[in-house]
Amino acid sequence: MTDCQLCAHVAIDGSWGTSEHHCGECHRTWTGTAQAHCVTCHRHFTANSTAAQHRVGDGETCRDPETVTTKTGARRLFPYDTKYGVMWGGPPRQMPQESLTMDSVTAP
Ligand SMILES: [Zn+2]
Ligand SMILES: [Zn+2]
Ligand SMILES: [Zn+2]
Repeated sequence: MTDCQLCAHVAIDGSWGTSEHHCGECHRTWTGTAQAHCVTCHRHFTANSTAAQHRVGDGETCRDPETVTTKTGARRLFPYDTKYGVMWGGPPRQMPQESLTMDSVTAP
């Protein structure tokens, strides 16, 4: 049972028909096909490549992105606030252009 209007919509239509995506478990909505949503921990990432960095071993276990570091101990994943919630990505200079401009494009 859910009060989520978006999930109700998906259940009826079967698909969005838009560029928006929605998680039926945590009810997060996002745009951009390049982004990756973890269906295990429901954290959200800028890309499959950044999402992969928080996975452990067989990929069924998730690490806290704050604890993911390089061999030299530098953090690899950083939280970015978006209007849909926190999104994890690489260091700021490595943020994909699409992610940086997305909010301004989709803002009301
Ligand atoms: Zn929902
Ligand atoms: Zn995860
Ligand atoms: Zn989710």
